[in-house]
Amino acid sequence: MTAPKALVAGNWKMNGLTSSVGEIEKLARLVAEKGAGCDVLICPPATLISNLSGKGIDIGGQDCHMAVSGAHTGDISAAMLKDLGCNYVIVGHSERRADHGETNDVVKAKALAAQDQGLTAIICVGETDAEREDGSTLDVVTSQVRGSIPETAMADNTVIAYEPVWAIGTGKTPTADDVADVHAVIRNLLMDRFGDAGEKVRIQYGGSVKASNAAELMSVPNVNGALVGGASLKAEDFYGIIATYQ
Ligand code: PEP
Repeated sequence: MTAPKALVAGNWKMNGLTSSVGEIEKLARLVAEKGAGCDVLICPPATLISNLSGKGIDIGGQDCHMAVSGAHTGDISAAMLKDLGCNYVIVGHSERRADHGETNDVVKAKALAAQDQGLTAIICVGETDAEREDGSTLDVVTSQVRGSIPETAMADNTVIAYEPVWAIGTGKTPTADDVADVHAVIRNLLMDRFGDAGEKVRIQYGGSVKASNAAELMSVPNVNGALVGGASLKAEDFYGIIATYQ
């Protein structure tokens, strides 16, 4: 089976104001003029989704609640994201797991809520520095992948983002061999879970991806795109990563 089309997604986290609409317009111009050999997605803060939609770049959410609606002050549902035209939502980002105590069960419930609304769930997994140091990377990632994918998930509404926590926003990245080892384990888990269709699930790498290291990281076997934080905030920087798929 041929590799799935890569997905390069930007996670703006809690950055951006309504003035950021200019960056999306610039990114859309770059993609239109120079092309993109991958799917391109920006996940801005929820406050900006309406402003940034309809500008030629797919827009997704950074998180959703596990319920469809109800008394959950400050939260947003997958149905609300869908209503705004989103097709994707990130769930289980390590900052959510750490800041909000999200367990695999919570992440799984959020992914289920997303998929039930027709969204593709980008499920984040990855080990902390301490877990890497004590040699438990593959065990941690295995239990996160197994524990965070809903029973009813399909290969085509599931994306896995492998993001070593120690690589996020630090400028550090694993070696290409280390990325290959982890992605191979994730691919095997996906084949166990989805059968042959597991080949179609995109496995993104995330953690300090930038234009200067994207070519090496994106050429690692079983890497099907990137989840990008800091380098997604400026259109030119982000396009430099997208361009590795030309
Ligand atoms: C992220 O938070 O998903 C991320 C990968 O951040 P950065 O690219 O800044 O390391």
